Amino acid sequence: MKLLVTGGAGYVGSVTSRLLLDAGHEVTVLDNLVTGFRSAVAPEATFVEADIADAAQVLTPGSGFDAVLHFAGLIAAGESMTKPEKYWHDNVVKSLALLDAVRAAGVPRFIFSSTAAVYGNPVELPITENAVKAPTNTYGATKLTFDHALTSEAFAHNLAAVSLRYFNVAGAYIADGHEIGERHDPETHLIPITLQVAAGKREKLQIFGDDYPTADGTCVRDYIHVQDLARAHLLALDAATAGEHRIYNLGNGNGFSNRQVVEVAREVTGVELPVEIAPRREGDPATLVASSALAREELGWVPEKNTLQAMISDAWSFYRSHVA
Ligand code: UDP
Repeated sequence: MKLLVTGGAGYVGSVTSRLLLDAGHEVTVLDNLVTGFRSAVAPEATFVEADIADAAQVLTPGSGFDAVLHFAGLIAAGESMTKPEKYWHDNVVKSLALLDAVRAAGVPRFIFSSTAAVYGNPVELPITENAVKAPTNTYGATKLTFDHALTSEAFAHNLAAVSLRYFNVAGAYIADGHEIGERHDPETHLIPITLQVAAGKREKLQIFGDDYPTADGTCVRDYIHVQDLARAHLLALDAATAGEHRIYNLGNGNGFSNRQVVEVAREVTGVELPVEIAPRREGDPATLVASSALAREELGWVPEKNTLQAMISDAWSFYRSHVA
């Protein structure tokens, strides 16, 4: 298929582009390089440095794209509470402009990077796709808003849309001479920050809150290996059906507390990581654990690298050779 990958210079977008190319697809990456890295774009991909709001430059009528995979967006839940306008603009306004371009160019399929943050504090665990959606942060609200836009687009204009709701993505793609991993500047996510501490780039790890209603008082998240997550996009492309908006949660169904993450990072890196308990981060739900039963059933998706050890050791290996 001829594919447009927005955000293909970012973490999940670059790993997925690798898998798409290896599967024989033709990939064009559209990325404004505000948070992505040119070096993360696969050499075999065509690269266009542009904003998603200007996607019509690439998605011209007759350009013949079979699908858009939309990864580009802002992802820091904490920042979305202090600069919400930035999140509404980038994740909603610009994504709607992309959708206009998709419609005008007659692209039949659309795969969207949605998030577990759409659910907010879950009433029941594990979280299924039918659970109440009550985001506790602006990031989740913006992703949910675009999910709604996709639902109406699919029904009104016959788009084959799939939203993949990622839980916490971790690890790196390390295979066949390729090493692709996570680099954010500034870094806000727990595992890469823990690795920065292990590498001596940061003095200590702050754990945001230890008074949550969880077993050890720290937040619980469901971590998914980026390679497993990327594979789900290829399955979603095959499953996408005209006139339907399908939505799948992608996680392992196991929750790990922030303290447990630090323990595994200590084992993997061999470094005694200094930790300080800091105040809660605004907008953080206590526990997010996925039910991915629907993705398993309908997409045939099976996560293969589902231990925290595997994720953190791949992330550590990438970090030491490419980031530190
Ligand atoms: N977290 C933390 N210290 C940090 C970064 C994150 O304690 O320096 C916590 C954060 O408050 C949340 C969990 O780690 O409870 C996962 O946060 P992250 O930003 O990695 O992902 P999110 O769940 O927000 O997508």
